[in-house]
Amino acid sequence: MQAKVLKANISENIKIAANLILRGKLVAFPTETVYGLGADATNSEAVSRIFTVKERPAFDPLIVHVASMEMLCMVAKGIPDIAWTLIDAFWPGPLTLVLSKKDEIPDIVTAGLPTIAVRMPRNKVALALIKESGVPIAAPSANSFSRPSPTSVNHVIDDLGSKIDLILDDGPAQIGIESTVLDLTCSPPSILRPGGVSRESLERILRKVSVSLGNEDNVFRAPGQMKQHYAPRAKMMLFVGKRRKKVIISMRERIKELGKMGKVGKIGVMVPEEYLTYFNNENVVAVGLGSLTSTEAAAKKLFETMRALDKIGVNYILALAPSKKGIGLAIFDRLFKAAGSQLIEVD
Ligand code: AMP
Ligand code: MG
Repeated sequence: MQAKVLKANISENIKIAANLILRGKLVAFPTETVYGLGADATNSEAVSRIFTVKERPAFDPLIVHVASMEMLCMVAKGIPDIAWTLIDAFWPGPLTLVLSKKDEIPDIVTAGLPTIAVRMPRNKVALALIKESGVPIAAPSANSFSRPSPTSVNHVIDDLGSKIDLILDDGPAQIGIESTVLDLTCSPPSILRPGGVSRESLERILRKVSVSLGNEDNVFRAPGQMKQHYAPRAKMMLFVGKRRKKVIISMRERIKELGKMGKVGKIGVMVPEEYLTYFNNENVVAVGLGSLTSTEAAAKKLFETMRALDKIGVNYILALAPSKKGIGLAIFDRLFKAAGSQLIEVD
């Protein structure tokens, strides 16, 4: 059966969604980062369905979404002062905090970890849904595991439309890239996944923050740390270098080489829009990913572009790595994972 799609700006629809959550069903709902696939975090059977429909491995913990401080205290214990300072600064918003888990939350939610990842989204629909349900909502992104995250209802339908109960439609996601996951159970605090709240803005509050982008130890403290993730079907190639124009030339050369191999079909390119003119060959589909002056715009279009290029059926996608400043770090991380953690470095 196809999931029902209901407009999110009608309060009656929020009530319908909340009722489904309380009956153990799955509801996809908007957040400011990406669409989430929600289940009652206190209901282990409902949560287990999230893993089934996403084909998500059971070792990959979920983020729990709350709408009040009371709810936060239902899921986490021993909350340190620094968490309260960060909450004052960034909640509601795209910052997920890893804290000690309360026993009342079933182990399946956190993949057996003694810690829990929790955030308060700032999307009004998400907040209304959590409040109306009265329970914390466990919600990973509403996509099939390892596919690019969903930033609009069509993406949710493409991946999960026949497997879930309801989708609340609130138009395209405002930020387009997932939350920053910050582990506060270690010292110094550690960014497990860069996202909507920048490293620089965290550093303004925390004296020291570590960033772990790799997964060398193979411990899945953070699902986003897997080597191949957020990936389009096409083979992704991520080009990086200090001199941008030189990198662009190298990308063009690679396109020529691929062309010589024959039967490569169409090749996708993702670059800031200022560089689109360098890629007007007929076998290339070039998409402007933000501009040199707006990385926010690139974040918003990132996953949508990967999905669009997949729909066209390109076999390769060549992307120019953004600077790692601000939200650029999160974009870089997603492109890097999509490229199977490989870089093409141009000196
Ligand atoms: P998503 O599928 O996009 O919702 O990703 C969930 C994110 O939650 C991952 O990237 C992890 O960083 C994070 N996460 C969830 N629970 C934990 C936890 N207990 N410890 C560390 N990270 C967690
Ligand atoms: Mg995800």
